[in-house]
Amino acid sequence: MVRVRFAPSPTGKLHIGSARTALFNWLFARRNKGVFLLRIEDTDQERSDPRFLESILSDLRWMGLDWDEGPVVGGSYGPYFQMSRLPHYHRFRDQLESRGCAYPCFCPPERLLALREQGYDGHCRQLTPKERERNRADGLPYAIRFQVPEGETIVVDEIRSDVRFDNKVVEDFVILKSDGIPTYNFAAVVDDHLMKITHVIRGDEHLSNTPRQIMLFQALGFPSPRFCHIPIILDKERHKLSKRTGSAFLEHYRREGVLPPAFVNFLVLLGWSPGGDREILEISEMVELFSFSGIGRHPAVFDEKKLEWFNGHYVRSLTQEELLNRFRGYMEDFEGLGSLSAPWLAVFISLYRERVRTLAELRAEFLLLLGDEVVFDESAYGDILCKDYVPSALEGIKGRLESLPEGEWGGSVIEETVRSYAADLGRKAGELIHPLRVALLGKKASPGIFEIVSLLGREKVLKRIRATVSLLATETQRI
Ligand code: GLU
Repeated sequence: MVRVRFAPSPTGKLHIGSARTALFNWLFARRNKGVFLLRIEDTDQERSDPRFLESILSDLRWMGLDWDEGPVVGGSYGPYFQMSRLPHYHRFRDQLESRGCAYPCFCPPERLLALREQGYDGHCRQLTPKERERNRADGLPYAIRFQVPEGETIVVDEIRSDVRFDNKVVEDFVILKSDGIPTYNFAAVVDDHLMKITHVIRGDEHLSNTPRQIMLFQALGFPSPRFCHIPIILDKERHKLSKRTGSAFLEHYRREGVLPPAFVNFLVLLGWSPGGDREILEISEMVELFSFSGIGRHPAVFDEKKLEWFNGHYVRSLTQEELLNRFRGYMEDFEGLGSLSAPWLAVFISLYRERVRTLAELRAEFLLLLGDEVVFDESAYGDILCKDYVPSALEGIKGRLESLPEGEWGGSVIEETVRSYAADLGRKAGELIHPLRVALLGKKASPGIFEIVSLLGREKVLKRIRATVSLLATETQRI
């Protein structure tokens, strides 16, 4: 039975590469009716932070990746935590030591520092059992090092070609620090064995760790899992994704209002292809089609435009109600939806759903409707509002709209009012509609202006026209 794991370290937010590793593991488990585990590699005590753990778990849930095993917490499976498993690592350390495959290293930090460039020289390998005993009895702190055997180690990989490593290039590495906490390679090997992991699927930045892990598996007499190293993800300039701008982290896209199915669809194609030129895939189709043979060998390129395109597709495929629910959920992280009525929200969604690619864009439109002030886009202002007839035309529209009885504020009445006023002025309807749109929203494009007028409501419409007219008046004076 296939058993795989995702093993993040809670030392940072969920990276795009890690999100993809998690997804590939999950898909492989689901495809093969196997088990997907979550293991938190929290042995770097200084850099681990519960806030990162929370955000990683939240991002995994957001993607819809669930795990199948783990210690039960509050009725569901929690992840495994390495810091709760120290006795296991100590047990296997004892085994390695008694087999002569590991030894205590008493070298002081200054000595190790001096050796940093060249690597550890194996000094403490030479100590006799007596010397070790004496040092221990003297209370000298010591780490445990793995004694790298002679020969070579071959990494057989499901995706890449085999890689041979001469063991000489690997120093006797620390498996347990002097505080009794294991290092990554050792803890991962012990856990992969105890958790009966069959396939280790991870980013190829870990390829260089793999010979060490294989040596440990061999020394402990455990069979190695199969290794599957997936190619790195680069941006369009072929650089690593930027941590500085945040674009390397899943959270960034979540905040941008990307929908989970769009994100997962986009992510799965970073380094994997179902064959042919299919791009839009439901989760169930990914599960059905996923296999290592579709994983490429070259770096995957992260194209944000493509992600936007995917998202636009998914936004448009949602029903009105689904989109509203997504938007409501998204807005919980911001200012919320306030006390707007259900009919208002329904109209808002129906007017904008075809026009936005992300929930962030939808939010921007929402804020534009609800805000107190209109910011004019430069070309809309210059091309449309600056014409001579505009101030008086806007003033006139305002007068006609103001005289509409309160209860008659609605799309068709407004349309008639504006059109008949245009006819009275001997102008085309567009000559009033364009400036009205800019006065109300500050830009040239929007959903139908009559719907916008009715959605904004009488008070906001009149106020915005008034503000535009007085702005135009002061501008004219200045010239
Ligand atoms: N904790 C490691 C990481 O976050 C896991 C690597 C592995 O999958 O073995 O990169």
